[in-house]
Amino acid sequence: MISIRVGDIRVTCLPDGSAELDGYPYQEKTDDGERVDWGLYHELFPNDFHGELHQWRIHNNCFLVEASNKLILMDTGVGEGPYPRYKNMRGGLQDALQSFEIANDDIDFVFMTHAHPDHVAWNLNSDGSPRFANAEYILHKNDWEEFTNRDPVPPFFGRFIEPLRELGVMRLVEGDYEITSGVEIFETPGHTPGHMSARIHSKKESLLVVGDVLVNPFYVSESGRAFQSDKDPVLGIQTRQTLLAQAVADQSLLASAHFSEPGVGSVENQEDKLKFIPR
Ligand SMILES: [Zn+2]
Ligand SMILES: [Zn+2]
Repeated sequence: MISIRVGDIRVTCLPDGSAELDGYPYQEKTDDGERVDWGLYHELFPNDFHGELHQWRIHNNCFLVEASNKLILMDTGVGEGPYPRYKNMRGGLQDALQSFEIANDDIDFVFMTHAHPDHVAWNLNSDGSPRFANAEYILHKNDWEEFTNRDPVPPFFGRFIEPLRELGVMRLVEGDYEITSGVEIFETPGHTPGHMSARIHSKKESLLVVGDVLVNPFYVSESGRAFQSDKDPVLGIQTRQTLLAQAVADQSLLASAHFSEPGVGSVENQEDKLKFIPR
């Protein structure tokens, strides 16, 4: 398990697993008809791609943040699985917590960057009780509305998120929200309407937990490309570019849910192109 210090705050990557997908992080041809040089990205980021076709090896990271004597879990992975979209992966978050000697009852807050099934599925025990029994679960109001207004409500949402409200353990937020001193969440819509990111800061150091705003290091360098899984791809690009500009201006580290472990690194401007530098 890899921990990173941000001033007085500790951020630990808790890997939920990885999968070798048959596709790419981006449609194979770019909007201008050129092919992405996936071999180049594979060379730069050997763990984020696989095979001779340089296809996408997706990782699923959750993050544990220890700040102001509080424990905050950011995203809860694919759960017990099997999760079909990730080659029937079974989530490893529960084991990662155990090997880090964190009991589920120690968690004070569960922050969901957004309501997708690979980010929320360890929320509950199989009997329907909250897995993190002492935690308040935090989600943006727009993601609640996005999925509860669908007919039918997607099964994963009915199973892993809706019960939290009935159990009285969920806080729906909007705008900026401070979870605890040094840990603020803010709106980064596009991937979903209520997608949020977290800014962790202490003693002039900072780190942004970006969820699915950046799903592969490729998007740091080619932020103008639309991610096909974004609900609103144009807004997704805007949000991505704003967040990257913020990371450069503040010299913030970035932590992504889907980069190879530990999912954390910095952003540097090299030859007029941004590049992700893994930790
Ligand atoms: Zn997502
Ligand atoms: Zn995701």
